Amino acid sequence: MTKALLLIDIQNGFCPGGNLPVAEGDAIVPVANALMASGRYDLVVASQDWHPANHGSFASQHPGKAPFDIGELSGKPQMMWPDHCVQGTSDAAFHGDLDTAKIDFVQQKGQNPAVDSYSAFRDNDQAALTGLSDYLKSKGVTELDLCGLATDYCVKFSAVDAVEMLPGVTVRFIEDASRGIDPAGVTAAIEEMKARGVEIVTSKTLLP
Ligand SMILES: [Zn+2]
Repeated sequence: MTKALLLIDIQNGFCPGGNLPVAEGDAIVPVANALMASGRYDLVVASQDWHPANHGSFASQHPGKAPFDIGELSGKPQMMWPDHCVQGTSDAAFHGDLDTAKIDFVQQKGQNPAVDSYSAFRDNDQAALTGLSDYLKSKGVTELDLCGLATDYCVKFSAVDAVEMLPGVTVRFIEDASRGIDPAGVTAAIEEMKARGVEIVTSKTLLP
């Protein structure tokens, strides 16, 4: 039994004051810290959105498009985001209160300007893998609890991929250690995760 915690994109860019803020995004930091400190986990992994400045998901790269318009990237519909989490900037850094000393492995994603990567496991076109599924398999992970930002995008895509790419692994979504962008999108994301076999839990059920 190897229990792993996967923290999705707990970065300044997705917290209040960041370039793509999620409401109350910073409220999950103490919960994530408590989970890491609980002794429950053998392994803690964090993903980090890590874009080049010319990333194709940025509205700034598409003349005439504004953030949150639907545009196109490599021939596929793509949400146009504000510039966010550019490599090496403070926007891309983990939230300053996150206890990063307890993170064993960081999986960066979103480096290819021609495709977005909501999931920590693979790009949105599902062509290129990040390597995270092989890493977790190499560690013999049997349970994967995940949480972070944002529930309706990167967390949901990561959870669904975890179920598909890690057969036999119990995957749990920690609701109170996550926040989303759009309330209706969060409700739909939780329903979709449930339907795909992800357990929906809160930190209270996990902490001793
Ligand atoms: Zn991004």
